[in-house]
Amino acid sequence: MVPSARAAFSLLLTFVLLLVAACSGGSEGAPNVDIVIRTATPTVPPPTATVTPSPSPSPSPTPQPASVRLVRGLAVQGGLFLVRLVNPPPAQEVHALFAGGSYPMLADGDRWFAVIGLRTDFPPGDYPVEVLADGDSVGSTVLNVAPTNFPQENIELPPDTAGLLSDAAAIEKENNLLASVYGGYTGARFWSGAWVMPAQGPVTNSFGLLRSINGGAYFPHSGTDIAAEPGSPVVATAGGRVVLAAKLYLRGKSVVIDHGAGVFSGYHHLSKLQVTEGDEVGQGQQIGLVGSSGLASGPHLHWEVRIGGVLVDPVLWTLRPVEP
Ligand SMILES: [Zn+2]
Repeated sequence: MVPSARAAFSLLLTFVLLLVAACSGGSEGAPNVDIVIRTATPTVPPPTATVTPSPSPSPSPTPQPASVRLVRGLAVQGGLFLVRLVNPPPAQEVHALFAGGSYPMLADGDRWFAVIGLRTDFPPGDYPVEVLADGDSVGSTVLNVAPTNFPQENIELPPDTAGLLSDAAAIEKENNLLASVYGGYTGARFWSGAWVMPAQGPVTNSFGLLRSINGGAYFPHSGTDIAAEPGSPVVATAGGRVVLAAKLYLRGKSVVIDHGAGVFSGYHHLSKLQVTEGDEVGQGQQIGLVGSSGLASGPHLHWEVRIGGVLVDPVLWTLRPVEP
């Protein structure tokens, strides 16, 4: 073969081989596309859970500690004060201890309370007040009892009227009856707000006035005297239930109203009774007429208030609400 012929053959062979390669590989081979296998995703930190600032714990149901509080504004000789137990623990019975006495407290809304009367001769000074819930002490505080200057008066009564005082048996009977009435305790409160004066007229003799009748010993006036025309109306100073409507030896025709929680009011020397025992009366409701029955030097209303049997100044109840 001549060199030119061999060269031509080589070219031809190369061409054929290239052609075969192109036909076989090109038609059956996998399409020439880039397959990107993402073997690892970029390490983007996963969104971390946002840690919100933890809110301060919502008010926990942990009960507030029980607290003993006093309403001291009327804590004078012949006055009164309130004991409150706020945030009380669960209890069946709550009592206040004061000056050697144990006073039942009454549940009222979210608290317990007691109204305690102070005798006219109660020694002024500081006294501890402790509260027991089912017998366990739950708190204490101190009460200051302030003095009251009660005026003195000498009065003269006609011998026939003053002679009424000589019937010791009748007086004892009346005192026993009143002690029985005033010794009651109703576990409810029938009054609310400040009280009203039970009659229209001037106060002629104040509560606690030290009186001597016809030269005798001095005794504190047990109530407030309101001068008024005979037959003028007498109204309930506050809501309550009539527990006495009767004629008494010294106090004459009388009405006593139970206001609950050991608090009572009495209306005396009436000329007419207009309620009967068991009646429920509202504040300002008419209960009788002014008169001079019993031991009275003239027509007037003798108005008394007792708390747990202790006589206190009725007018104090009109000055401000006495409430739990
Ligand atoms: Zn009087």
